[in-house]
Amino acid sequence: MASLISKSINLQADLGPRLSPSASIALPDDANFANLTSRWREWHAPTIAAVVQVATEGDVQQAVRFANEHGLPFIARSGGHGATEAMASAKDAIQIDFRKLSHVKLSEDGKTAIIGGGATVKGVVEALGKLGKQAVTGVCECVGISAPILGGGHGWLQGQYGLPADQVISARLVLPNGDAVTVSEESHSELFWAIKGAGHNFGLVTEWKYCVYDIKNPKWSYEIFVFSGDKLEVLYELTNEMIKTQPPQVTHWSYIIKVADIDPEHPIIWYAIIYDGPVPEARQYAKPIHSIEAIMVNSGEATIPELAALTFQDENGPGCAKGLTSLRYPIGLKSYNTASIRKVYNEIDETFRRVPELAGSFFLLEGYSTQGVQAIDEASTAFPHRSDEVLVTSYVQYKPDESMDTTAQEFGKKLRDYLLEGSDDPDRLRAYVNYANGDESLEEIYGWEEWRLEKLRKLKKHWDPENRMRYYVPIV
Ligand SMILES: Cc1cc2nc3c(=O)[nH]c(=O)nc-3n(C[C@H](O)[C@H](O)[C@H](O)COP(=O)(O)OP(=O)(O)OC[C@H]3O[C@@H](n4cnc5c(N)ncnc54)[C@H](O)[C@@H]3O)c2cc1C
Repeated sequence: MASLISKSINLQADLGPRLSPSASIALPDDANFANLTSRWREWHAPTIAAVVQVATEGDVQQAVRFANEHGLPFIARSGGHGATEAMASAKDAIQIDFRKLSHVKLSEDGKTAIIGGGATVKGVVEALGKLGKQAVTGVCECVGISAPILGGGHGWLQGQYGLPADQVISARLVLPNGDAVTVSEESHSELFWAIKGAGHNFGLVTEWKYCVYDIKNPKWSYEIFVFSGDKLEVLYELTNEMIKTQPPQVTHWSYIIKVADIDPEHPIIWYAIIYDGPVPEARQYAKPIHSIEAIMVNSGEATIPELAALTFQDENGPGCAKGLTSLRYPIGLKSYNTASIRKVYNEIDETFRRVPELAGSFFLLEGYSTQGVQAIDEASTAFPHRSDEVLVTSYVQYKPDESMDTTAQEFGKKLRDYLLEGSDDPDRLRAYVNYANGDESLEEIYGWEEWRLEKLRKLKKHWDPENRMRYYVPIV
């Protein structure tokens, strides 16, 4: 707001008339401002001078142009789950709020859908589900659809169809100068390449033309196990064997987490096998896991929204809860190194006792299947980590408390270091951009092959010479 006042800008009067009738502007003294700007993580979040709720592509263009004319930073907002260091450098920014751009429209041939840039995972799953269709989306219901796609993305269906970014036929993009273009294989193909993995740096997506598929199984199957920590080695060694022949329909998904009702002393391992297929087949696949003594086993069938709830990623679950300081330190792996995971477990166990404020943290190991992902040439998109089999991150979480920050950061980094030391390439961390803490190097995020960063830098210079889009793991 200070920047608006110091520059004598009256946003309502100066920008308002340039917007469509359905757009709106909110300023800090408006009743809904706090609600509009609240985020999954408030810690190191952008500071917002004003919110422009866009309703058309033209509104996005006007908001971007207006911000540029007045030298104001701007930042897109969809699901509000973005949490990486660079966001904090957006000071007194215009929040270009995409949430009204959430339409989902199926094409006549039923093979693609037009999806608004501000739609959420839940919105897309529900709208397509009503039509018997599904798409490759993230898992967490309240995450925006766009940011995962821009960073490559991960979700249940990736083994069958590829990453979210691989589903894009074309996108309408408002460039950092306010011009709007269509990007696809046929139109600005290099920019199209860039937005599929490094997209937060290049433009604002108003609309995606996105692949959709028939729902094969309205109900998926799941097998959920709870194990005590002493089963860790046998469990992840077995998982290493199983992922060698993991069918495209299967995800291994596990948490190391403290659940006092189950084990008041130590963290437990919550382990799920999620399967796009009938229960007997899931049982057959999960059979080896049943040979390990579990504290609890729960199996059944569930729709995708029910699976989101079962994995704590539904809109009422912990994945969507706002207000905690949350730090993530992602790493991509080829397999589970049980000695490293043991170190992680012991560190978590010890830290939770020593620093009870951090005991609400958890450690997530995502073992999506990868056939669909690896069927696509690694050079054909900006997403650099196609050969990883497992995606791991801690979620170090605590009630906002500055005195905890250093301890929490050291804890999260240490957990990642254990895994890196025991990985296939301990000198070269591979970190998923959408989980990035923000302290990683550009190579770690955007790929170690020299040509990748060179290409991205060249494209950045061409498409965003003023570096206006620099608030989400910036290339420059
Ligand atoms: C609890 C939780 C669960 C998650 N689950 C998954 C998952 O299952 N799969 C997965 O891949 N990732 C997942 N993520 C990571 C997620 O992809 C990132 O956190 C992402 O940044 C969140 O996007 P958002 O729209 O919710 O957040 P926002 O804060 O609204 O957006 C984040 C950034 O994305 C960019 N952006 C947003 N909308 C647009 C747009 N229309 N055009 C251009 N840029 C835009 C902007 O740079 C913005 O700063 C999860 C994160 C959390 C916290």
